[in-house]
Amino acid sequence: DVRVRFAPSPTGFLHLGGLRTALYNYIFAKKYGGVFILRLEDTDQSRLVPGAAESIEDMLEWAGIPPDESPRRGGPHGPYLQSQRLDLYHETAQQLVESGHAYYCFCSSQRLELLRKEALRSGEIPRYDNRCRHLQPDQVQEKLAQGTSRVIRFRLEEGVKPFQDLIFGWNRHEVAQVEGDPVVIKADGFPTYHLANIVDDHYMKISHVLRGSEWLISTSKHLLMYQALGWKPPTFGHLPLLMNKDGSKLSKRQGDIFIQNFQRDGVLPEALLDITTNCGSGFNTNRLGRRKDELISEFNPSRITTHSALLDLEKLPEFNRIHLQQQIEDEEQCRLLINDLRGHIQQAYAAEIQDEEVLHEDYIRRVLQLRKGHISFLKELVNPVYSYLWVRPSFSSQQVAELTTEAQHIASLVLKLLAKRSEELSVDRLNKDLKALAKQAEATKYREVMKLLRLALSGLQQGPSVAEMMVSLGPEEISLRFQKLLL
Ligand code: GLU
Repeated sequence: DVRVRFAPSPTGFLHLGGLRTALYNYIFAKKYGGVFILRLEDTDQSRLVPGAAESIEDMLEWAGIPPDESPRRGGPHGPYLQSQRLDLYHETAQQLVESGHAYYCFCSSQRLELLRKEALRSGEIPRYDNRCRHLQPDQVQEKLAQGTSRVIRFRLEEGVKPFQDLIFGWNRHEVAQVEGDPVVIKADGFPTYHLANIVDDHYMKISHVLRGSEWLISTSKHLLMYQALGWKPPTFGHLPLLMNKDGSKLSKRQGDIFIQNFQRDGVLPEALLDITTNCGSGFNTNRLGRRKDELISEFNPSRITTHSALLDLEKLPEFNRIHLQQQIEDEEQCRLLINDLRGHIQQAYAAEIQDEEVLHEDYIRRVLQLRKGHISFLKELVNPVYSYLWVRPSFSSQQVAELTTEAQHIASLVLKLLAKRSEELSVDRLNKDLKALAKQAEATKYREVMKLLRLALSGLQQGPSVAEMMVSLGPEEISLRFQKLLL
């Protein structure tokens, strides 16, 4: 049975790199009829960020990739928060101590600091010298009895066996040659990542570990632990890094890669999922505009390559535009967009709306149908350039008085035209009618006529074509706006 997990530490909010790891896990689970688990690795109590744990799960739900088992949802192998599983880690660490694979270490932080400084001075990489490996059982008992501060360390053995990574192929890191024995239980009684991670993957029956490639070099160490415990390890697959398009590190400090910010800015989750997979690999074809179900059906893990995925966030508006268009074309999704847009309209124009009709579903749908493909974000539709859609332009009596007789003539021609047309307005038809109308008005150039009409309809000098403006507003509203200009 396929069981995969996304295991972030709630030491920060979910960002694009994390979302992408979660997404590959999600797609993998759904592709193979498996289960997607969210596990929060909150063992570093000093670095916890308030609200992050809740927010991570919120963001996965917002993005449309909710976990099947999680702190919030529960599940058969919970709890899904490491701080609630301490007994399990202690039990396992004890098992390792008893079998001789782990030992108590009483080295003081001063001693460790001294070791570190010495190493740095002689140009070496600092590592623990494994001194407490050699304590005699009675020495250990004595220190334990005295209550000396202690940690438990895992005994790293040489002779690491190679393992086959799903993405990086055969791998092996002779960890004992480069590292001192790693701490598995800290002085505060909390486990370190390495122990908690393998204990949970084992007890949560994880079949595949898909995680960032920064963990590739730790995997041999994890495998040594599995071996020491006599457990069967999961299959590992390390995902290449996500980087900026110029190859620089995707920085959390830039702030613009946090999922909450994309949500706030009106980015569609589908667009975000699409852009984070589009720059990477794992698909037979490369195309823009994949929905979640298509991500799942077109996913092919054997196509994931080892080189970094380069993310071009400047393309995000384009991705969003395409997904927005797709959703407008889908009856049900469009209804959700209409609700969102209605909220934006109310917020932006609340007091100025003269006609509640503009909040009506049919009206907003017509506007969306006409503007799809032209806008990247729904919110754009409440920008000043689209204000004519929601509120009537106002003209002072002086402005009206100053209108030339020619302008008045044109306005009356439009009213006549509308009176004649009984079928629904269409952009094509109107374009033809307006050309004819300009001819009829004779004196002025077509462009001038259009400028005038645009001004009369919107009070603005730019925006969509006059024909489109007219179709969105509908005959009654157009008449109303022109009548106001007639003396
Ligand atoms: N807590 C680790 C992280 O935040 C999990 C790594 C893993 O998936 O094993 O990256």
